[in-house]
Amino acid sequence: MSQAIRISHLHSRRLKRVLQWIGICLFVFGIGGYALLEALHVPPLPRDADESVRMKQPEVTPNLSDKVPVASAQGIKVNLNTAEETQPANSITGLVTEVSGQEDQVVVRRGDSLSSIFSRQGISPAVLDRIMRTGKTTQTLKRIMPGDVIKFRKDSAGILQALEYDLEQFKTLEVYTDSDGGFSTRIIEHPVERKTRVVQGEIQDSLFQATGKAGVPTKIAYQMADIFGWDIDFMRDLRQGDAFFILYEELYKYGKRVGVGSIIAAAFVNRGHLHQAFRFTDDKGYTDYYDETGRTLRKSFLRTPVEYKRISSYFSLKRKHPVLNRIRAHKGVDYAAPSGTPVKATGDGTVVFAGRNGGYGRVIRIQHGQTYTTVYAHLSAFRRGIRKGRHVRQGQIIGYVGMSGLATGPHLHYEFRVNGVHRNPLTVKFPKSRPISSQAMQQFNLISRPLLARIKQWEQSRQLLTAQNTP
Ligand SMILES: [Zn+2]
Repeated sequence: MSQAIRISHLHSRRLKRVLQWIGICLFVFGIGGYALLEALHVPPLPRDADESVRMKQPEVTPNLSDKVPVASAQGIKVNLNTAEETQPANSITGLVTEVSGQEDQVVVRRGDSLSSIFSRQGISPAVLDRIMRTGKTTQTLKRIMPGDVIKFRKDSAGILQALEYDLEQFKTLEVYTDSDGGFSTRIIEHPVERKTRVVQGEIQDSLFQATGKAGVPTKIAYQMADIFGWDIDFMRDLRQGDAFFILYEELYKYGKRVGVGSIIAAAFVNRGHLHQAFRFTDDKGYTDYYDETGRTLRKSFLRTPVEYKRISSYFSLKRKHPVLNRIRAHKGVDYAAPSGTPVKATGDGTVVFAGRNGGYGRVIRIQHGQTYTTVYAHLSAFRRGIRKGRHVRQGQIIGYVGMSGLATGPHLHYEFRVNGVHRNPLTVKFPKSRPISSQAMQQFNLISRPLLARIKQWEQSRQLLTAQNTP
């Protein structure tokens, strides 16, 4: 919470001034202590217990719920630690709130309403009414859910001074009494503190069994599956002894861990092959994951799977079916081509179905990453070796045009699905897969090089372990 907002809660200007002085003293002491430690070559207190790499250095304000007395050792430690970043009054104002009045944290229970909560707090319905009438922002209070927290701040006479309600993880709605005795609102944006954490593990059974065992948060495990999903089929490709290394961000709010952010770098050894991914945001603000050479891991698609004579039927949600003679959606594109014309996979992926299926005849379905599926129907034959579980590369021949199933002539019926929903293959927007520009490459190398070194180190120690364990 910012200092300006905190200070405004103080009723006494004199108290405020005194506290500011304490703040300045503490700050000076902090800087002095820091300088002294530097001069004596005493290593300063560790910045981050988990990791030495820190992406950003936001301000550290003590957690308000920890009742920290103003001049405690802990308060000083905070200043020492972040002497360069912390503004003098900042850490003090965080502590100040404890001095005035009382604060109640109410956890919303099942069946609670705002009025029942207010009544339990001993606040009159008239006050609630006034709060709800301050404007649009307070209307969100009507949507409270069990588990939500509302903080009430009251003065020593028990009169409501302010209440706080988290709109998002780093956004709080504050309703406070203004100078006229009425209520005003404001949205407080909390600083996001990011720390990095490394997790690693080995596959024994399944990916999620292994990530669970290694303490990888579910969200991060899914992110990794998504990042490498174009190259590794986590359902079928995994072997015992496959291993992973993940460096990701944890999000902190006033020193308290509140969630996870994104993966910064990851490595996955699948059947002895090392896959690597590095998060990078280019000069235009576009963020993606790239391999060690700066190539994007998110591979795109070929627009057409076959060299065709003409398009005999377009994507349409209502058309007369030529065989069934009924109005039926045509959720793909028909490419007319002679029987035997090679059909290519439009993207890297895994064959999830190759066989006969009703009107589709001989059909192949390919899964690309987590999101995309393509379908190739009415084939005369499959390419040798193409079967369920098979990895295919973009442009690889998977089968041949035919007229199996419900078809009036030889053609390829091709479908493109996004999260299971049929999209027009001719117009659908493919995932971006632009490489890093030559200008941004230098920046990418700067960021990825130390991460690469860490992954290499991990690889080497892992190989050493494996060598020791195998006679
Ligand atoms: Zn068709």
